[in-house]
Amino acid sequence: MTTARHYALFIDGAFCEGVEARRFDDINPATGKLVATVSEASAADVHRAVTAAKRAFEGPWGNMTTNARLDLLAKASQRIMESFDQFLGHEMDDTGKPVSFASKVDIPRGAANLQLFADLARNLGTESYATDTPDGGRALNYAQRHPLGVIGVICPWNLPLLLMTWKVGPALAAGNTVVVKPSEETPASATLLAEVFQEVGLPPGVFNVVHGFGPGSAGEALTQHPDVAAITFTGESATGKAIMKTAAEGLKPISFELGGKNAAIVFADCDLDKAVEGTLRSVFSNCGQVCLCSERVYVHRSIFDTFVARLKAGAEAIRIGDPYDETTEMGPLISAVHKEKVLGYFRLAREEGAEVITGGGEPTLEPPFQGGHFVEPTLWTGLDENARCVREEVFGPVAHLQPFDDEAAVIAMANDSPYGLCAAVWTQDLSRAHRVAAQLDVGMVWVNSWFLRDLRTPFGGTGASGIGREGGKHSIDFYTDLKNICIKL
Ligand code: NAD
Repeated sequence: MTTARHYALFIDGAFCEGVEARRFDDINPATGKLVATVSEASAADVHRAVTAAKRAFEGPWGNMTTNARLDLLAKASQRIMESFDQFLGHEMDDTGKPVSFASKVDIPRGAANLQLFADLARNLGTESYATDTPDGGRALNYAQRHPLGVIGVICPWNLPLLLMTWKVGPALAAGNTVVVKPSEETPASATLLAEVFQEVGLPPGVFNVVHGFGPGSAGEALTQHPDVAAITFTGESATGKAIMKTAAEGLKPISFELGGKNAAIVFADCDLDKAVEGTLRSVFSNCGQVCLCSERVYVHRSIFDTFVARLKAGAEAIRIGDPYDETTEMGPLISAVHKEKVLGYFRLAREEGAEVITGGGEPTLEPPFQGGHFVEPTLWTGLDENARCVREEVFGPVAHLQPFDDEAAVIAMANDSPYGLCAAVWTQDLSRAHRVAAQLDVGMVWVNSWFLRDLRTPFGGTGASGIGREGGKHSIDFYTDLKNICIKL
């Protein structure tokens, strides 16, 4: 890519510049080079977007038949797959993630989210009851689902298309309209999705994109807007707190998918090959920048040394570098700022007394990737469970390995975290799998697998990892209100 692109705002069915004509740069984290300039939305632009979304909700979108609405979503899903290479290239330029990951995860899942929620909304019923009345007669109770209105969708940078459509799909399928604020790091796929929606004939105002930052910018303006009916957010727990405070002013419903410090628990009775391979994936996928990644790995003492040696060998064999090369397994971190944060944890771990099993630095790469935000796959051991590096989310390619002696002790260690997103358990003992999974204080447990997704299942975390569940019917529950109608017969 030689010439920088430009990503405009998308408001009321048209691409446009912000009224204040402010722009910011979109940088390729693999090279440090400019990908695009991006229009920054002011509060006035966010107001225009929300007003357009409200008008569409009350007009063409609200009046459309359910089938016509869902057909448009299905068509958009198909269009993403037809434009696969364009989505893939843009997403990779924004994130630096390897083609081997983005082509299997980000783009297909981005398309699948729209199709899934179109199918789901087409087939969803509601409850009804035949009710006895005090006078010996009968009444019929039935519930109706109603969309909420304009949904504010605030997205992170780690899986931009996938996590955006995870919210936009069910919100639109349920009959709402949306204003999306993509991450400032990854504006491309929201812009491409706007083009797709324009091509398939989505009425103006149904899907809007306001680029910009969080505090004092488009993100905050969106959460403050009185005509935004609900906010769905994926990102850091600290950002969730700030958004919740703003949302409280308007008593807006919120759905939060936040950070994690996820445990992987490897029992002595595991299939060692699969546990090693699965843990390598759960620690290092997407350069450790998946909310579900394992950053705490607990291994039974009897296999600890063997497991550590094999994980170290696996980590050192990971091919880092050119994201556009099919054989590359790990790309860069998202930004210079995030790299500094991760390298800060690498330094802190040493200060806290960690034994560095492998990594802990920056790889040496050839041009043009020497300007990218790469760090080494890193494994630590020897830290106290109270060390900051064991308690705080790093969001990089790093995990701490801790030996354990018995089941109760490892469950206690895994649960001793402010976060509660997910866990991975490696065991061939079926009773143990059920027993341990039931006792882990998290929203999701994978047994002998990781990131194996069925999009109909509840997704979300406990504690500092989130509020509410999305996925399947649970998403539709968030994006609709239920009205009960009682008819005396
Ligand atoms: P972030 O919280 O920094 O930013 C997320 C979005 O919020 C961005 O669009 C940002 O501009 C916006 N924002 C920031 N401050 C805001 C404010 N005050 N008001 C409104 N909007 C604001 O998160 P990130 O760095 O983009 O993403 C990484 C984080 O996301 C990690 O903590 C990761 O664990 C988490 N995450 C969680 C899940 C999940 O499903 N639980 C999935 C992916 C990522």
